[in-house]
Amino acid sequence: MNKFNIGIDLGGTKIESVVLDLNSKILFRQRILTESNKGADHVLNRIQDLYLQALKSIQDEEHTLGIGTPGSLSKSTGLLRNSTIACQNGLPLHSLIEEKLNHSCTIENDANCFALAESYLGAGKNYSLVFGVIMGTGCGGGFIHNGKLRTGPQRLAGEWGHSVINPNGPECFCGKRGCVSTYISGTGLEEMIYNNLNVKISAEYFLNKPTYNNNEKIILHKFYEYYGLSLANIINTIDPDVIILGGGLSNHQNLYTKGLEMVYKNIFCENPDTPILKNILGDSSGVIGAAIIGKNDIS
Ligand SMILES: [Zn+2]
Repeated sequence: MNKFNIGIDLGGTKIESVVLDLNSKILFRQRILTESNKGADHVLNRIQDLYLQALKSIQDEEHTLGIGTPGSLSKSTGLLRNSTIACQNGLPLHSLIEEKLNHSCTIENDANCFALAESYLGAGKNYSLVFGVIMGTGCGGGFIHNGKLRTGPQRLAGEWGHSVINPNGPECFCGKRGCVSTYISGTGLEEMIYNNLNVKISAEYFLNKPTYNNNEKIILHKFYEYYGLSLANIINTIDPDVIILGGGLSNHQNLYTKGLEMVYKNIFCENPDTPILKNILGDSSGVIGAAIIGKNDIS
């Protein structure tokens, strides 16, 4: 059995690595800028640099390697799609990384890595069916059952952010209208504010305002209404033991009080009690999940 698990988390602005031991203790970690504007080859070199440093920290001992990335690998073509690291879209990322690093790896969507990390070491530790929700630039998700990531035959499981909740809603980059992501992601909320109030402010700033005028109250209500609907849809469909929120908006406390009420209002059951919890691992969850996912017995 491999004594070490290396994880690498690819992000639009930074790439991070971590080395875990058998008890999932962090032995080494490093974070560098992605510099994606310098192109795909440059990013691959950055990944290699990071990997070699991690490898050095365990004196080249045997290890598993997991990579977390935005977007996912197409099941039919093996090419990366929907990544926010635009220069990597359309590339056979799996084979490119394995050739570059000269080591086998597992590649998984970053929201799945988040869900796995929280399920193993974070807020989902004591639950069997965990649904992890990312409310960041976009909305993603992943679910874990008894410690195993479920990706589904089309590798679609957890792609809750692109479920349509209003067919007449705003256009989404995926080509549809009124996806969950167009209302309750950071970008979605910011666009809703801009289109209705004609101001450019961050979603976090808006959600943390001490007071709201009447027009702002309408937007805020809409945000919570769609938050309630979209999370209730998850609960009505798979009835998870817990939902864990991650991403920039998950720091907003009202999601767990006022937001929770809006979710419960839409659940098809008399006394709903599904816990909706804030993540524990913060922005380390992606890289820790990537390391865990490299273990052969997980996916
Ligand atoms: Zn969409």
